[in-house]
Amino acid sequence: MKNPSVAFYKKLILISIALLILLPVSASIYLLIENRSLKARQVFANNQPDDVVTVSATQLEPNNVVKDKPVLSYQMLYPDFRSDFFGFKNDLVSNKTVFITFDDGPSSGTSKVLDILRKESVPATFFVNGKSNPFLTAQLSKIVSEGHTLGMHSYTHRYNVIYASMENFLDDFNRNFLYIKNATGAAPQILRFPGGSINIFNIGTYQSLIAEMLRRGFIYYDWNVSAGDAIPGATTQSIIDNVLHGVHLCWGPAFVLFHDNGSANLNEALPVILETLKREGYEFKRIDNSVKPPMFIYPD
Ligand SMILES: [Zn+2]
Repeated sequence: MKNPSVAFYKKLILISIALLILLPVSASIYLLIENRSLKARQVFANNQPDDVVTVSATQLEPNNVVKDKPVLSYQMLYPDFRSDFFGFKNDLVSNKTVFITFDDGPSSGTSKVLDILRKESVPATFFVNGKSNPFLTAQLSKIVSEGHTLGMHSYTHRYNVIYASMENFLDDFNRNFLYIKNATGAAPQILRFPGGSINIFNIGTYQSLIAEMLRRGFIYYDWNVSAGDAIPGATTQSIIDNVLHGVHLCWGPAFVLFHDNGSANLNEALPVILETLKREGYEFKRIDNSVKPPMFIYPD
């Protein structure tokens, strides 16, 4: 029979070894997490605007503002650049819902895309830029009359200008807002940030940009599936593969990013994608501001 005290000491030694390994490992994990959160707070603190003015919000009364809280000077710019938001209604969306979106239009290819969507009875969402060509601007009314949604995607699409300051950003998006409103008679309520809500150009200011657009009642939509249709070397097959693979991987509604840029590959890929997904039981919806936006996986 074994000596119980030997067994006891064996156990004690094993537990001590286990603790010696576990303690430093968990401490390192804790410190790593803490460090990342500190860094995130640091980025945020460094980018807080310092142009606070002591104007009562009640004088301005923009959307969603806490009464009597001091407002920032840029919050007073373009007081009509705002929208009504009444909350999200996600009961209409399932895990098999797909939102097809097109950025960067209107273009000479918009008509063709609209023909495909009409033939397939698929509603979509177009995040558009400002175009001086009247023929292109006329596409906006066509997009709306065919049952699709229009959203803002900046007037100029010039990242280095738009993201240089909050004032530049608001100036550009207000122009985009009026462009869509004047062309269609309806003010846009949603947007997509050029390059996504966090990108290399706004990495230091994205919190303020997002907060300001939400304060004005605009909901922004990133994407969780990218067609890769605008990258050099894209083919009809690569677009089909990217979208089908991406949609299959989504654990919630899919928000698919395409570009309205007149690409022949897109025109060939789009019917194949829509018909395949329909066969697989997916349903297509257009975005409006009652749709809860997707979680964007931000690069580390
Ligand atoms: Zn774009």
